[in-house]
Amino acid sequence: MDKIKHCASFEAKEQNLKKTIYLIILILILAIGAFCILKHNALTLEANQNIPETAKIADEPRDRYELVEIADGSTFGELMSQAGISPGLANEIYEAALAECDLAKIKAGHSLELTFDKISDEFKELVYKMDSEDELAVNCKSNSNENATGTDESAYFFEAKVRPINYEVKIAAKEGEVKTSMYEAALENNIDERAIIELANAFQWTIDFAMDPRVGDKFKFIYEERYLNGEYQMPGKILAGQYINDGKTYQVYYFEENENNIGYFDENGNSVQKIFLKAPVAFKYISSGFTTGARYIEAFNIYTGHRAVDYAAPYGTPIRAVGDGTVIFAAYNGSYGNMISIRHNGAYTTNYGHMSRFAVKKGAKVKQGDVIGYIGSTGLSTGPHLHYEMVKNNVKINPLKEVLPPGEAIKEENQARFFAEIKKRQEELGA
Ligand SMILES: [Zn+2]
Repeated sequence: MDKIKHCASFEAKEQNLKKTIYLIILILILAIGAFCILKHNALTLEANQNIPETAKIADEPRDRYELVEIADGSTFGELMSQAGISPGLANEIYEAALAECDLAKIKAGHSLELTFDKISDEFKELVYKMDSEDELAVNCKSNSNENATGTDESAYFFEAKVRPINYEVKIAAKEGEVKTSMYEAALENNIDERAIIELANAFQWTIDFAMDPRVGDKFKFIYEERYLNGEYQMPGKILAGQYINDGKTYQVYYFEENENNIGYFDENGNSVQKIFLKAPVAFKYISSGFTTGARYIEAFNIYTGHRAVDYAAPYGTPIRAVGDGTVIFAAYNGSYGNMISIRHNGAYTTNYGHMSRFAVKKGAKVKQGDVIGYIGSTGLSTGPHLHYEMVKNNVKINPLKEVLPPGEAIKEENQARFFAEIKKRQEELGA
């Protein structure tokens, strides 16, 4: 039994040894396999790390951006030099831009925005805001190798284009009450002066802001405010406006009927644009003058025989044609001093007296709003003012009381869209 036991025990030991060897071999194989897999993954990871640039963009260096303010008297060349751009490169930028914009005529108060490459720090882009609507962009682009012709063309070229300024737009609403003038009311209510001028422009066929406003008049309007990089820049379009003048309510709504008919319409869908402007002096000129300077306005009065409206404004203030027409008189005329007459149609003529100088000649065709001359005190006059007359069928009439036909109505097929669009605005205005 013992021997058997012994033998059996020996056999078992022998089998255990074999098992251990197999196990070691298996572990070795597994270990090598695991190493290979890990090694492969590590390589893949390394390779992947080289691919996704964008995933790590936060850590990337950024293009260098420089804002160059244009001071009075500074030239394009000087400004470029200050920004570290060589005269040769500045000239190339200038030449590239010339077809779109003459950079030698950049305006003081504006700025040049320059971008330099994040790695090479080489010039990349110049942006110049030409006016409130458009900007010039000059970009440096590299010539593609595939297009290389073998000639010694430089490796880069410049591309200039004019593009609309991409403002962020917010909608704002403002209101005020007239105590002295609409201009003063705007100042009191912290309303941007430029917004109130735009509002007055929308009402320029309806209200004469020199003569019509009364104490207690109220106005409210909805307009666009333009922002760049979160900073307020200027007012944009007036979208809707209401002016309550002497108890009577006037409304204007901005509407794009089609690409040829964009503008302001009243609550009935008639264009507010009429054959005559209410005043021959724009609101932006009379407003400040009337609240600060000596005030002398003489109204139309058949009893005193002053069959005209006088507008007091400083010397040199532009005078505009109230409607389209032909200049039939432009000369000195006794007590009128320097006078211009415009014939508008078979019935109406307008006369403008005491001008300091003319901007148009006899025979000229003028459009509504064109500057025809400047305020002065020539002829029988005690101070700078415009003597403005409207003549209808050879009779001098009061231009402020003349009822003109309403402007063109929105076409029937567009009316539903118009009324739907202004509904929300009317609610906002409380109209
Ligand atoms: Zn007068």
